[in-house]
Amino acid sequence: MIRVDKLNKSFGDLHVLKDIDLTVRESDVVVLIGASGSGKSTLLRCLNFLEIKNSGEIIIENEQIELHTHNLNNVRQRVGMVFQHFNLFPHKTVLGNIIEAPTQVKDVKKEQAIKEGKELLDKVGLGDKYDVYPSTLSGGQKQRVAIARALAMKPDVMLFDEPTSALDPELVGEVLSTIKELAEEGMTMVVVTHEMGFAREVGDWVFYMHDGKIVEYGPPNELFDNPKEERTQAFLSSIL
Ligand code: ATP
Ligand code: MG
Repeated sequence: MIRVDKLNKSFGDLHVLKDIDLTVRESDVVVLIGASGSGKSTLLRCLNFLEIKNSGEIIIENEQIELHTHNLNNVRQRVGMVFQHFNLFPHKTVLGNIIEAPTQVKDVKKEQAIKEGKELLDKVGLGDKYDVYPSTLSGGQKQRVAIARALAMKPDVMLFDEPTSALDPELVGEVLSTIKELAEEGMTMVVVTHEMGFAREVGDWVFYMHDGKIVEYGPPNELFDNPKEERTQAFLSSIL
C-alpha cells in the first residue's frame, strides 16, 4: 500500500509536483497518464526515493518514510522499478543481472538466488536464456529480464515507467502480458503508460496528470468514457 499526501517536488525554480495526493491499495493497479513533462516520471521516482520530495508525506505499508528516519536503500528494496530503457548490466549474463541485488544488497546465498532467479525467468518466459548476455536479447526479452530482476528483490510494490515505449510494436504485447500476469497474481503496481488498451483492461484506477497536478482520476471506464474535466477531455481526444 502506498499513500501520498500533498507531495511537492521542485528542481530549482521549477515546481514539478504540486500537492499530489494518491492512494494505491494492496493489489491495486494504478495507471498514470498525462502529457510529456507533466511529472509522471518524477512522481514514480519520488515513490522509489530516487528523487527526494520537498514536502508532503509518502507512506509505504503504513510507514511514513523520511530521509532522516529511514535507510532509503532498504526502502528502495520494497519498491521495485522498471524503466523505459531496461537499464540491464551489459557485462553480466541474464542470471547475473537477476542475482546481483539479492546477493549484494540482501545477503541472499548465491545458490538460493540462482534457484529463485531461474524460477523468475521461467515465469517471464525466458527460462532458457539465463546464460546469455543482454545484448543478444530482443527489447521485449530485455524488458522481461528487467521485470524479473526487480521481482528478485521481492518488492511490496512495482513501479513501471513507460515499460513498452522503447519497444518495436510487435514486442509490446509480450511485455504487457507479463505485467498483466503479475497484476492478476495480486502485485500492487503503478504503471505510467500510453497503452490505453492496457490501462482499460488491467487498471483499477487511472490518474490523469497535467502540469504537476492530478487533474482527475477514476476507474478506467469512467475516466476514458466520461471524463469530467475539460483538460482530461482534451488530452484523451488528442491521444485516442
Ligand atoms: P515524459 O512523458 O516525457 O516522460 P513526464 O511526465 O515523465 O514526461 P517528468 O520527466 O517527470 O515528466 O518531468 C517533469 C518536469 O520536470 C519536466 O519539465 C522536466 O524537464 C523536469 N525535470 C525532470 N527531472 C529533472 C531533473 N533531474 N532536473 C531538472 N528538471 C527535471
Ligand atoms: Mg517520463
